Amino acid sequence: MKYFIETYGCQMNVHDSERMAGLLEANGYDRTEVDTDADLVVINTCSVRERAEDKLYTRLGEISEMGRQLGRDPVVAVTGCVAQQEGDKLIARSAGVVDVVVGTQQVKMLPMLASAAIDRQREANGRTGRMPPPRIAIDNPYEEPSFPLGIVRRGDPVRAYVTIIEGCNDFCAFCVVPYTRGHERMRAKAEILADARDAAASGRREVQLLGQIVNHYQAPDDPSCDFPALLEAVHEIPGIDRIRFASPHPRHTSERVIAAVRDLPKVCKHLHLPVQSGSSRVLGLMRRRHTREQYLDLVARIREAIPKVQLSTDMIVGFPGETDADFEETLTLTAAVGYHSMFSFKYSERPNTLASKRMPDGVPDEEKTRRIVALQALQRSIQSDLFQRSIGSTTQVLVDATSRRREWELTGRSSGNTVVNFPGPPQWLGQLIDVTIKRAGPNSVWGEAVTG
Ligand code: SF4
Repeated sequence: MKYFIETYGCQMNVHDSERMAGLLEANGYDRTEVDTDADLVVINTCSVRERAEDKLYTRLGEISEMGRQLGRDPVVAVTGCVAQQEGDKLIARSAGVVDVVVGTQQVKMLPMLASAAIDRQREANGRTGRMPPPRIAIDNPYEEPSFPLGIVRRGDPVRAYVTIIEGCNDFCAFCVVPYTRGHERMRAKAEILADARDAAASGRREVQLLGQIVNHYQAPDDPSCDFPALLEAVHEIPGIDRIRFASPHPRHTSERVIAAVRDLPKVCKHLHLPVQSGSSRVLGLMRRRHTREQYLDLVARIREAIPKVQLSTDMIVGFPGETDADFEETLTLTAAVGYHSMFSFKYSERPNTLASKRMPDGVPDEEKTRRIVALQALQRSIQSDLFQRSIGSTTQVLVDATSRRREWELTGRSSGNTVVNFPGPPQWLGQLIDVTIKRAGPNSVWGEAVTG
């Protein structure tokens, strides 16, 4: 049986798909990169924004049409956050396209449910066409033990994702994550280090530690191991040359976290520090538990400790109650920090959240559009200026891909997380190469390898 898997959303979802792929292959499935060849199509979904959720329904329509043209319907399994959130409503809403719905904590059920659906599909195809009864595995995300999978099929040849925390207890007013991924659960330090060693043994040179609030980590199997101590422990592993993490929360970014980033050479000099708004009033409505002033003070302390650090962030515009003056504060904070990159979004109401229940979505969509256009224009000009200023400098790049556009063009990331393109042989994939920056584009820079 062949499976095809596609993933929407964050790095956590990408890693969940790697775990699902490992699990399916351990149960006798073969991977295909072509959906028309698949007996099983898995869609690993994201519900953090409304648009990500809409994408699922568009895709289900395409799969239905594909089945009609092939004269054979693949079994369709929906996993991830939309599966957890919608449950059997997905079956009804998809008009029979979806066969299996697996919640965020029931991934281990996927091979068994998919096989049962495929068997029944084949039987049904022989007689009446599609529509065996759907099978569903949704469970309360608050009760299941975390990390049921010890199996992974890593998709990236250079970097390995390692989950350290799952779920979140913060309940920011706009965020669906605590409802779809459950409460915060820390993974044992011993398991994390075993995964990181395994990644190094398989030739991966970069480890990315993942969690909703990574810097809240406290090892359940070692009371002395908090997040900075975990960074030190991963740093000791031979073969790992780079360590990244996503995402830290501003309010848990302690002096010890800053010192660990500064002092551990393998830890990349990049911090993704989600701020969400530049207005303390809006941050209060969002229940972010930090103010504009505290955030700017944190940025100043980070910059003082690590002058070459690059910062990135997440920003929401048009949160309920955000006024023109609040939005102006978002613009002034953006300009003051000078982010190297930003993920910015128009607010959209997410089910179950505090904002959806108590805060009417009062900012008209045209106004949200005006604000996001202004914010993104500002961010583009900041980014372009920072990239221009990097011309002439030399930076170490971990090569993670060969270019799809041109032979002999490699691409990788600097320690600060800038995408750097440069000519070089494909054998440099996975190597750390010094590159002098020659030219800047809107989202990446171009350079030449320092040879000799
Ligand atoms: S900290 Fe807030 S935004 Fe981040 S996952 Fe938790 S609830 Fe969501």
